[in-house]
Parts: sequence; structure tokens; C-alpha cells
Amino acid sequence: MKTLRHVDELIAAGLVAPARRAAVAAVAARYAVALTPAVVELIDRGDPADPIARQYVPDPDELEPGAGARGDPIGDAAHAPLKGIVHRYPDRVLLMPLLHCPVYCRFCFRREAVGGDKGLSDAELDAALDYVRRDPRIWEVVVTGGDPLMLPARRLARLVRQLDAIEHLGVIRFHSRVPVGDPARLTDATVAALAGADKAVWLAVHCNHPRELSAAARAACRRLVSAGIPLLGQTVLLKGVNDDPAVMEALMRALVRNRIKPYYLHHLDLAPGTARFRVPIADGQALMRRLRGRVSGLCQPSYVLDIPGGHGKAPLGPTYLDDAGTVEDWRGQRHRYPPTDDD
Ligand SMILES: *Cc1c(COP(=O)(O)O)cnc(C)c1O
Ligand code: SF4
Repeated sequence: MKTLRHVDELIAAGLVAPARRAAVAAVAARYAVALTPAVVELIDRGDPADPIARQYVPDPDELEPGAGARGDPIGDAAHAPLKGIVHRYPDRVLLMPLLHCPVYCRFCFRREAVGGDKGLSDAELDAALDYVRRDPRIWEVVVTGGDPLMLPARRLARLVRQLDAIEHLGVIRFHSRVPVGDPARLTDATVAALAGADKAVWLAVHCNHPRELSAAARAACRRLVSAGIPLLGQTVLLKGVNDDPAVMEALMRALVRNRIKPYYLHHLDLAPGTARFRVPIADGQALMRRLRGRVSGLCQPSYVLDIPGGHGKAPLGPTYLDDAGTVEDWRGQRHRYPPTDDD
């Protein structure tokens, strides 16, 4: 089986009803579509609300921008000194060598940019690396895209070597959907490319539902950890996918169980055509509050919002300390702090 990209392939696979052909084709003409065999295998076609299908199968709603939507929802353009670099915080930059992904998420925050053939040429990548070399404040390079693990292993190895040679860098961080979206792509050569650095190479795995951690995905993560690459979990809070407390709890436990430390739970960005995934911030905070009481500290991500306009990420709480000088415990009871003699 191959990656499904065309509406007729989705119909043949039983993922789109034939009556919706024209409407879904219009979406596919506007936004990239890809479902790998690994992802298709996880879908329960008998469940009209299947949380895996929901993330990848295009829906006619996507042509409605939705309230407050923006083409560049987190303001990357305002902080892009040259192609392929976003420099928002003094000590770290995003490096985007290519804009392809193994799968295309319907809620993607960079959906207006990904999928086309707009990756960096060799000369543009050299210029981006020069930018990093010339600014000694930069301590961390976050390699993202698109999905940087879509680079052929040889090019990935070269990129890691080039970054490793930049003296002022401490950390090389990759963000990828490949371990869950296309685990077969994590060959020995790809893992070796990542593991070939002296500097710390971290990998943030984008994973939104416990079922995404299939046997193949778990094995891919195991290969990475065994090669000395610490894994972080990155999850987007999505209505109908993981906004249920039991699902979120199971996801966080499954990540930690597979040696992936939950890092961020992202509030959904205001990308066009993603309204069907929106969860109110108050609901996200309630989910976080429930996690705090029920699961290990290892399983707690921080819930963050990327502030529209390019102002960076802000933690959304919830907070446990109030203005009246009380702090809430994991059962929801409040205590004075500092305590008085009676407490
Ligand atoms: C998210 C982001 C980072 C990384 O932020 P961390 O909080 O360190 O994970 C860096 N640069 C840009 C432009 C970002 O959007
Ligand atoms: S893998 Fe990331 S960049 Fe690619 S479509 Fe999904 S959210 Fe967007």
C-alpha cells in the first residue's frame, strides 16, 4: 500500500463517502493531503468519529476560514530574517529545511505553507546555517518544517554534522511527526544521522492520541532512545481527538511509558479552516487540572498558547495560587500560604 493523496484513493479506501467527492476534492486542491499506510491501518472505519481519521481526512469545513483565522497564525513572518529561519527568542532559532510532511494534519498551524515544493535549496540552507554561525547568542537550533525527518538520511547526517560544528550551539532539537506518522522511515541510517553529533540532539515527537503509539511507532521511539536521543512529547489539544480527560490521561501515560517526556500541550492556533478542532481555553485548563490530580508529575505537559502576531509562547496555567493567599491542592481543597498557626 502507498500513501493516500488523492480523493479517489480516499474513497477507494473507504475513508470518504463517494457523495462527498467534489467537496473533498476542493479541499485537497487547496491544502495538502497525505495518509501513510501506518496511519490508515490505525483508522476504525466503523467509527464515524474515529480520532485518527479526524486528524488526517480532509473535510469540506476547511474551506471556511473561521472566526479570527490567520494565514500565519503564530507570526513567523515577522521574525524571519531570511528564508528557512525564524528568530523570535534571542537564544534559539527555528530552522526549516523543507516543508514536506509524512502526513498532513487537518489542523496544521503552517497549513498555508506546508506541502508545496518550497524547501531550501543548498545555497539557501548554507545561508541559513551562516546566519546561525554568525550569532553567538544562539544556543539551540530547533529543526522543524514541515518535517525535517523527511530529509534523506545522507542530507540529514550532513545537516547534523554542520550544526554540530557550530561552537556556540548547545542543543540541536528536531520536531517530527515521523515516529508516529511514518515509523518505517526511521531507518538505521536516519537514527544514525541523528545520533552522530557530540552536542545533545533532542527530538520532540508530535503525538495526539494514545492509539498513534502503535507497535511500529513504539519500536521507532525505542530505536531513537537507544541511540541516545531523548524524546519529548508535543500534543495539540483537539476537539474530538484528545479533549476527553480519559483520552488525555491515557495519552500522557502512554508517552511516558514509551520514554517520551510530555513537553507541550499546545492550544490550537488560529489557522484557517480548523474551527472544528477548537477547544475553549477554560476546557483546556480543566483538563490540565484533572491531570495534575491523577497522574505522575512525569506525565504533566505545560499547556501553552502561541500568541498571535509573533509574540511567542505563554503558559496558560491553570494557576493554583490565588490573590487571597491560598493555594489549591490536588483534591481541589484550598490552603492558606504562608500558613497561620491554626493550619
Ligand atoms: C516554539 C518556538 C520556539 C521554541 O520554543 P520553546 O519554548 O523553547 O520550545 C523557538 N522559536 C520559535 C519561533 C518558536 O515558535
Ligand atoms: S506534521 Fe506538523 S507541520 Fe506537518 S502537517 Fe502536521 S502539524 Fe503541520
